Parts: sequence; structure tokens; C-alpha cells
Amino acid sequence: MSNPCQSCGACCSAFRVDFHPVELAGGAFAWGAGVPRELTVPVTAQLVRMAGTDASPPRCVALAGAVGVAVACRIYAERPSPCREFEVEHAACARARKRHGLPPLAPQD
Ligand code: SF4
Ligand code: SF4
Repeated sequence: MSNPCQSCGACCSAFRVDFHPVELAGGAFAWGAGVPRELTVPVTAQLVRMAGTDASPPRCVALAGAVGVAVACRIYAERPSPCREFEVEHAACARARKRHGLPPLAPQD
């Protein structure tokens, strides 16, 4: 079964993605090599944001491809915790998809 996220990407183009700087490259709690600093913007001493996610319209700079067609996260192995915790079929997933004119996922998707 294919991963529905690979033909979606709506959540990467709908919400701010904020996380603690310890997840940045070189940080104490980074996954793999950590989130590349150049793809983020500082918000406060305790918060950084994926660049582009507070743009209008929002779109994470790490997202490659066309939303609703075919997408990929260019830093998938190093993506920050909000992206890891975001759940397919959660209400926020359906909200993000709706913003992009996509129907909510059915359980079998
Ligand atoms: S909005 Fe839902 S289906 Fe689309 S990429 Fe995000 S988690 Fe996957
Ligand atoms: S880091 Fe990757 S998974 Fe997270 S919002 Fe950006 S493109 Fe999406």
C-alpha cells in the first residue's frame, strides 16, 4: 500500500512548524544530523521555526514537489519533532488537506 503522504504534503504547506533549538544540527536532541540551521528561522531563545511555514501561503522550505500530486521532505531523516508527531487521519490532517482542496483520508487510505 502506498503512503498517502507522498501524494499530499498539505500539512507541510498549512501550519507553522516550531520546535526547540536542541533539535538543530549539532543540538543535544537532534535526530540523525539534526535539522539544518539554514532551513530555519529563530523565533525566541527557546524556539526555531521551519522557514516558509509562516509565509502566506505557508510552505516549508524543505518540501519538494507539488502539493496534492507528488511530494517529499528533503530532510526526512532529520525532520523535527512536530513533523514526526503529526498524524495521518488526525483532524489537523483533514484540515490541512481541506485547505488544499483535498478530501479527508479514508481509513483504508
Ligand atoms: S496532511 Fe495528512 S496525508 Fe497529507 S502529508 Fe500531512 S499527514 Fe500526510
Ligand atoms: S521538515 Fe519536512 S515534514 Fe516537516 S514541514 Fe518541512 S517538509 Fe514537511
